Parts: sequence; structure tokens; C-alpha cells
Amino acid sequence: MNTTLNIGLAGLGTVGGGLVRLLSENAEEIRARSGCDFNLKAVAVRNPNRKRDLPEGVRLTTDPMTLADDPDIDVVIELMGGIDTAKELITRSLAKGKQVVTANKALLAEEGESLFRLADEKGATLLYEASVAGGIPILRTIVNSFAADNILEVKGIVNGTTNYILTQMNQKHWTYEEALKKAQELGFAEADPTNDVTGKDAAYKMIILSYFAFGTQLKIDDFKTEGIDTLNAYDVSQAESLGYVIKLVGSAKVINGGVFVDVAPTLVPEDHPLATINNEFNAVMVTGKAVGDTLFYGPGAGGLPTANSVLSDITSEVKNLIMGTSGHAFNTYQNEYVPADPDNVRYPYYLSLTMPDVSGQMLKFTRIMADIKASFSQIVQAPIKDEGIAHVAVITHELSQSQLAELKKQLQQADSIKLNAAYKVLEN
Ligand code: NAP
Repeated sequence: MNTTLNIGLAGLGTVGGGLVRLLSENAEEIRARSGCDFNLKAVAVRNPNRKRDLPEGVRLTTDPMTLADDPDIDVVIELMGGIDTAKELITRSLAKGKQVVTANKALLAEEGESLFRLADEKGATLLYEASVAGGIPILRTIVNSFAADNILEVKGIVNGTTNYILTQMNQKHWTYEEALKKAQELGFAEADPTNDVTGKDAAYKMIILSYFAFGTQLKIDDFKTEGIDTLNAYDVSQAESLGYVIKLVGSAKVINGGVFVDVAPTLVPEDHPLATINNEFNAVMVTGKAVGDTLFYGPGAGGLPTANSVLSDITSEVKNLIMGTSGHAFNTYQNEYVPADPDNVRYPYYLSLTMPDVSGQMLKFTRIMADIKASFSQIVQAPIKDEGIAHVAVITHELSQSQLAELKKQLQQADSIKLNAAYKVLEN
């Protein structure tokens, strides 16, 4: 192998900019560790007029496809985001036998299957450590360090924007709107935060994590995704008074041979490790049959942390090239997706209810619970009352998904009792 690796970089924003900085600041370290010089040959951007801080001699282009077509480029790094152009660039680069690195979770979650197949056919490598939890090296850890264990569950806080918002709602008792505004001011939330606050970004990451943990190739519609955009301050403070912190938790779990995946606001006991993950930080908990619970914590986004994960892919590819093992899929573990039976998916739930503040309503609720053979461990009526409406919070014992669906149906029919939220409760 050459001792110089020529890199073509598409995208010079938050992560691309961080990568250029690391390539220059850590050039000696990279050479010492990999035995190779990483030479940034060309960079593609959208706006050619913006001032760029690039080392001398780097070719700047507005046509990312020229990176795929340049015979001197060994590795193409896609850090543009979006689907269509990114997919075209990766496809074209793999077709030409180039190694490709990307951080694009949306593309991988939506189109990963065809890209993985193409890489396989062409004997090229497609690596994407930075696509999940930014700076936390979780994918390679699952591939390398859990290869001999049987992973039972992967769950975590995999979206920094929503975790920042929830931390402010919890600690400062802000409303969702106030916390979102602050997150936008500080750059932790984008001007259009839809993908983050609706849980879609976390769902993309759970698709990739499930692929690594269980070998399943899920589609976003295969599982339920609920964001924090409908969460209200009342439930955050009610959860707190019951001893829980609300977090947006993505979870993928093997249950009786099936796989259950969801992304949803979740009540986490205040002494659970995930309850201590605050602000924009991420954490992924991997539970192996042999090893038990393990927790990986770190910055889930940001230019330098994410660029470090991108560089770890390139370094790993260089090692593969040296050993002649290049061209292997990042993840080779494949399994058919068998959804878990809803009768077997059982969690305690937090129910947030409103009902007329008159006698007989609580009895009505407890009768419905008895009817679906459910019971609860805690029930509190909030002191606040709006115009004769009582707010009631309940922590149930374990309910199956089927029981929960039946409870929702019966509460809808009993039209005086409104179920405002039903959130999963984690146990220690
Ligand atoms: P960003 O700041 O918006 O930067 C995007 C870059 O791509 C810009 O330099 C832009 O050019 C360029 N670009 C966009 N479309 C292009 C096109 N059609 N042709 C040429 N250049 C184009 O994005 P980012 O935050 O760095 O994110 C990049 C990727 O990393 C995304 O897939 C994202 O999901 C992923 N990621 C980001 C983070 C993070 O912390 N930001 C963490 C993990 C993963 P201009 O400079 O001219 O606008």
C-alpha cells in the first residue's frame, strides 16, 4: 500500500470543518499510529464564494461527483448530509472501488441495505462510525468487543438536542417551547428541529444500532417513534415528584426470540445511569448475556468529536489495506427481523390523565384497569385543578403492549377520562 492516502471530502460544515482541523493538527500522530500520511486532496462544497480555511493545494469544487471520478483519490468522505446527492456520491465512489466513509445516519437508515450490497459487490469498504452517537465509538465496539457475547438489549440517549431540551425542562422547570428556544440560541438545536424533536433522528440511530446488535435491517415504519414535541412541563415535574427523570430513550431489545424497538419519552429512575446523562451528551447502554450492563458515554455531536469518529474509520481502513483485509462489511451479522409479540412486550407505564373533578371518576378508571387485568403501584392526584378538572398521574405495574392498546381504547370510550400521555417506565 502507498504511504500516502488521498482523501476527497464532500462537505465542509460542522463535521467536515472539524475533520480538516484534525487532519492538520494531528498529522504527526496519524502518521505515527497508522504508518500513513492522510492527504486531503479535494473538497466539495455547495457555496463556492464562502471563505474557507483550507490548507494550500487542496482543490475546492462544487461538484462532489468529481471526487468519485478522480483516480488519485483513495477514500471519499461524505459529510454533506441529505439523501439524493449523498447517495449518488457514495454509489459512484463504491462503484469505482473507492473506500467510503460517511456520518449520514438518515441515508444509512433509509437506503443502507442497497449501499451495503453495492459495497459488498464491489469489494469496497463503507464505514460509518460517526453516524450513531457522534463521538462515542459504539459501532466498532459492538462489532469488535461484543462479537462473542449475546446482546440482549441496546438502549440509550442518542439525540443531544432533545436531551439538552429535556435537561432544561427538568432542572429549570422551563416549558418545552422555552427550552427549545434556548437550545436554538446556543446552537444545540437547528432552526428546523423537526427531525430531532419528533424522535426521527433517534429512530435512524436505533435502526443502525439494531443492525449491529441483532443483525436486523429495520425500516423506520417498522416501529413506534414518539418525540418530545408533545411533552408538557406538568408531566416532567410529576415524574420528578415520583422519583423519575423523563428522557428520550431509544431501545432495541430481544424479547422471546423477537425484537422490540421503540423511541419514546421514558421515565428513568433518578438513580439509573441514564438519568445522569445531561444536556447535549449521549449514552448508549449495551446489555450482553455474558457481560451484563455496559455504558458508553460522550458527546453525541459536534465538529471535533464527530470528526474523530470519521478519522477512526479511515485509520481502521488503512489497517485493513495494510493487512489485505479491506472490502469487508462494517457489520457482517445478519438476521431476519422477527417483531416481538405485543403480548410479550411488558413495561410499567406512567399514565397522565385528566378527568372531571367529581366523585365516581376514579372508580371508573380503576374499573377499566381491573377489566384489562392491570394494576398500579402509585397514583397521585395533582394539587392543581383547572376549572373542575383533576390531573391524575399513575405508575402501573407491568402492562403488555396489548393491554396498553386495550386500556387506550377503553379510556377513549369512557369519554370523561382523557389519557394525555402514556410513557414507558424503566426499572433499575
Ligand atoms: P453542515 O454543517 O450543514 O455542513 C454540510 C456541508 O456540506 C457544507 O459544507 C455544505 O456546503 C456541503 N454541502 C451540502 N450539500 C452539498 C452539495 N449538494 N454539494 C456540495 N456540498 C454540499 O452539516 P454537518 O452538521 O457537518 O453534518 C454533516 C453530516 O454529518 C450529516 O449527515 C449529519 O447527519 C452527520 N452528523 C453530524 C453531526 C454534527 O454534530 N453536526 C454529528 C453526527 C453526524 P456549504 O458549506 O457551501 O454550505
